[in-house]
Amino acid sequence: MAETILLVEDEEKLARMVELELRYEGYEVEKAFDGRTGLERALSGSFDLVLLDIMLPQLSGMEVLRRLRRERSTPVIMLTARDSVIDKVSGLDSGADDYITKPFAIEELLARIRAALRKRTAAPEETLLTAGPLTMNVDKHQVTMKDQPVELTKKEFDLLRHLLENKGHVLSRETLLDSVWGFDFVGETNSVDVYIRFLRSKLDEAFGFKLIHTVRGVGYVIREN
Ligand code: CA
Repeated sequence: MAETILLVEDEEKLARMVELELRYEGYEVEKAFDGRTGLERALSGSFDLVLLDIMLPQLSGMEVLRRLRRERSTPVIMLTARDSVIDKVSGLDSGADDYITKPFAIEELLARIRAALRKRTAAPEETLLTAGPLTMNVDKHQVTMKDQPVELTKKEFDLLRHLLENKGHVLSRETLLDSVWGFDFVGETNSVDVYIRFLRSKLDEAFGFKLIHTVRGVGYVIREN
């Protein structure tokens, strides 16, 4: 199956040229012309690699990278217009796998793409969060309990992920609301309790293992025993 590359670049002529070259090499290509759309695509699709311009309208490439890295380990090559040391350092610090300075020779870009894809194949970077018999593969968006797959909605997944990332630490309803629902949130703080109930019924009760504990008057915590 062809590897799929997301190209986030606002200079449409350049994007078109790169797209043609990539397609010629056998890659599937999707394009986005601004940072916000690029981030949405990168988070919703399953790309093998992202080519990310730094100077983008709506959301800078650096910001796209920062937000993408909270959820995905997709290889990212930054395209930078300036040969700026600052851009390179902060790009690599923010989790970019490589960068290339514009204008670039297409052969060089292709070589870097191949290198980034090879690196990924050699050592697939997957974030696994565990608690007792529960395993969450953050990159694949999969949850298993006692090796059996568990279907979760997006909110359930996000809530569980947050609890797992803070395993052993009690989180208040307010903290969970803020981290999981954030700006989208409209409603009552008991949304947290409702979703905790959903998770308990799909995990603790379905598999007979108590993971999610209530700390009265404080909040919730995942404990392994
Ligand atoms: Ca640009």
